[in-house]
Amino acid sequence: QSADDGKTEKKWYSVLATGSCHSAEKYEYQAEVSRLMDLIVNSLYSNKEVFLRELVSNASDALDKLRFLSVTEPDLLKDSVDLDIRIQTDKDNGIITITDTGIGMTRQELVDCLGTIAQSGTAKFLKALKESKDAGADSNLIGQFGVGFYSAFLVSERVEVSTKSPKSDRQYVWEGEVNSSSYTIREETDPSKHIPRGTRLTLYLKRDDKGFAHPERIQRLVQNYSQFVSFPIYTWQEKG
Ligand code: ADP
Ligand code: MG
Repeated sequence: QSADDGKTEKKWYSVLATGSCHSAEKYEYQAEVSRLMDLIVNSLYSNKEVFLRELVSNASDALDKLRFLSVTEPDLLKDSVDLDIRIQTDKDNGIITITDTGIGMTRQELVDCLGTIAQSGTAKFLKALKESKDAGADSNLIGQFGVGFYSAFLVSERVEVSTKSPKSDRQYVWEGEVNSSSYTIREETDPSKHIPRGTRLTLYLKRDDKGFAHPERIQRLVQNYSQFVSFPIYTWQEKG
């Protein structure tokens, strides 16, 4: 009798451990996002390197937002006082990591910001690209509007966005793959991957783009395209 109870109890606990609160939830992109990602990947392949400028500018925007809000809410800085951007390259595995200590995103903000085109710059870019019949105009359009977060898929097979907002006590991971109409969001439950605040983007580069995961190449791109960012940008290479 008591042995049976033990078994039941064991089973009950294992169900709890794999419960839905920690599993990834799947979302479909807004239709325009899928279209934008197609357009970006198909029309900007000769300007792939703009991905870094776009992602560094997002990191810088997130740091700006935090700095601005912290003037009236100094508590926002309690988890870390550093305001910087760190870019790490792992050339053996073709991985680039971009970490900022900015404002981060809540779960809802992940859905709103990285699943829809809420951002006017991106929407304008899409409109201009639709209207432009001249393929050569693309590089001008990038210069005018910026193509935003989705440019990560110019060079990435898969992108992970792990983010912690000071408004939430949880860290969430957004995960998307190139040419996919859906993405997932899950809670970051591995403590070794926790960040005090901000956002860490992990780019798993496409086979032909792994060459971007070299510190010299990243340094050159930062110098060329992100020289006016007002926060320190550190780059370093994974040892070994
Ligand atoms: P834009 O920068 O023009 O708003 P993006 O496509 O580059 O458009 O980014 C979309 C949104 O995703 C941003 O407005 C921001 O809310 C959010 N976002 C992207 N990267 C980060 C980041 N590193 N930290 C916080 N929020 C971010
Ligand atoms: Mg942007």
